[in-house]
Amino acid sequence: MVVDFHTHIFPSQMRERREDYLRRDSAFAEMYSSPKAQIATAEELLASMERAEVDTSVILGFAWSEQELCREHNEYLLEAAARSGGRLIPFCVIQPRAGDDALAEIERCVRGGARGLGELRPESQGYSLDQGAGDILAGAALRHDLALLFHVSEPVGHAYPGKSGLGLAAFYQFVSCHQGLTAVGAHWAGGLPFYTLMPEVREALANVYIDTAATPFLYSPAVYRQVAELVGAERILFGSDYPLISQRRQRQAIEDGLRDDEDGKRLVLGENACRLLRLGHDEKR
Ligand SMILES: [Zn+2]
Repeated sequence: MVVDFHTHIFPSQMRERREDYLRRDSAFAEMYSSPKAQIATAEELLASMERAEVDTSVILGFAWSEQELCREHNEYLLEAAARSGGRLIPFCVIQPRAGDDALAEIERCVRGGARGLGELRPESQGYSLDQGAGDILAGAALRHDLALLFHVSEPVGHAYPGKSGLGLAAFYQFVSCHQGLTAVGAHWAGGLPFYTLMPEVREALANVYIDTAATPFLYSPAVYRQVAELVGAERILFGSDYPLISQRRQRQAIEDGLRDDEDGKRLVLGENACRLLRLGHDEKR
C-alpha cells in the first residue's frame, strides 16, 4: 500500500473567494498570494492519486490564525474523508490560543474521524510550544491517540514563502519534553536527522517520524539514502506536499533516491504510515 502522508486540500469557497481569505490571514497571504500557488480540492487529489498510484493520502488543511477558519477547513476535511471510502485520512488544525473552543474542536474532529493534528505552524499561528499551547497539543494527542504533524523549517538556506512556522530547535525542544507521543516533523524535520549523530538527540527522536514533503525544492537527492542511514528508513514517511509538488514526482524521487534498497522503499512509501496509523490490518490477517 502506498501512502502519501502530506497533502493539502481546501474547500472550493476558499479557492473561489481566495482574496477574502488572503485579507484575513497574513500567513495564508504569504504563501498563497501568488496566483501560481495552487489550491486543490479533494476531487483533484483523488485524481492525482490515481495517476501516481497512491492508495491513501493524509489530508491537511491550513494552520489558520482564527479558530473559526480552522473549523471551516476541518469541516471540509472530515466530509471529504467520510466520502472517500478510506482513501483520505483527515488531520485537523486548531488555534490553541482559542482555549476551550480549541479543545472542543479537537473532540469534534476526533468523533468525525481525525487521526492527527497538522500541519501545525506555531509561529505563523502566533503561539509558542513552550507555553500552554504545547501542553494542550500534547495532552490531546495522548488522550485521543493522535499524531502531531508540524511544519519544521531549516535554520539556514534559502528563504521561501511559508518557511517560518516552527524552527528546528523549538521542534526538538517539544519532542524532547513529550516523548510518549507520536510526532511527525515535515520537510525532514528541518534537518534535525543530521543531529542524530549526537547521542542525546538520537534518544529524544525515538518516536519522531520525518516526512519528505517538498524535498526537490529543499535537498539534493542524496538526502534519502543519507537520512535512511542516520535514523533508519523505518522513520521516514513519503509526503509530497501536493499540490506544491506532484505526488508522482515525489514518489519517483523516493524510488530513485533509494534505488537499491527495496526494503527501505517499501517502508518509506507506505509501511511506516500503515504502522503509525494502523491501516490495512484486515489485509494482513
Ligand atoms: Zn510545510
